[in-house]
Amino acid sequence: MSITITGITKDFGKTKVLKNINLTVKEGELLALLGPSGSGKTTLLRMIAGLEHASKGDIFFDGNNMTNVNAKDRNVGFVFQHYALFSHMKVKDNIAYGLRVKKKKDRPTKSQIDSKVNELLELVKLEGLGERYPSQLSGGQKQRVALARSLAIEPSVLLLDEPFGALDAQVRKELRRWLRTLHKQTGVTTVFVTHDQEEALDVADQVIVLNDGEIIQEGTPSDIYDSPNSPFMYRFLGNAN
Ligand code: ADP
Repeated sequence: MSITITGITKDFGKTKVLKNINLTVKEGELLALLGPSGSGKTTLLRMIAGLEHASKGDIFFDGNNMTNVNAKDRNVGFVFQHYALFSHMKVKDNIAYGLRVKKKKDRPTKSQIDSKVNELLELVKLEGLGERYPSQLSGGQKQRVALARSLAIEPSVLLLDEPFGALDAQVRKELRRWLRTLHKQTGVTTVFVTHDQEEALDVADQVIVLNDGEIIQEGTPSDIYDSPNSPFMYRFLGNAN
């Protein structure tokens, strides 16, 4: 699924959080939204999810205008920094959740759900851990469960908001590599929010840099790394360059 955003503006009262954003995420692409804290990344991501509404502008999925479509009808998977796993549910039930709450006519059978859960546990390399509770997992494992859960509904678009932000540096690096492999396997159009330049350049096909609600630069990781286009970009890439 491709995503096109045209002329998106968002005001919270007098604060202009996003100013005339135009961008395209191609089908199957992994795009990083990179920028310092407060630059508007999460607001933009929540808008793609349908959790936030624009003051102006439109969002299209595969050319269809989704601007007024509710979050639950957008078929979007979402993973946040702080594991929103259900602590009272086993790993397998966390993963199955999105399938069990589907409307009756769309809901898979119990055995279809079981086989989907096993397939996902394998995909995120957590075979054999389905019976555990989240408290019995490491931080990195919890985020892999969160990803499996978001993929269970076979989303058209996967939105990741600093998914590895709470993990230590070594685990972050490993999960980044793993996410690239997973992305190749699933081919789901993905938008990844991060404030970490190295992470964005490492993981993404395309990078969009936001500052103060505006797009400052966009391109491939090597475009961005090799040719910062402004004093802001030089400063921002400072410790990656
Ligand atoms: P980022 O993800 O880049 O850190 P955010 O999108 O979270 O940035 O926030 C951008 C700006 O919008 C910040 O200044 C933040 O305080 C403001 N903001 C975000 N959500 C709200 C809200 N619900 N009400 C008022 N201001 C908000």
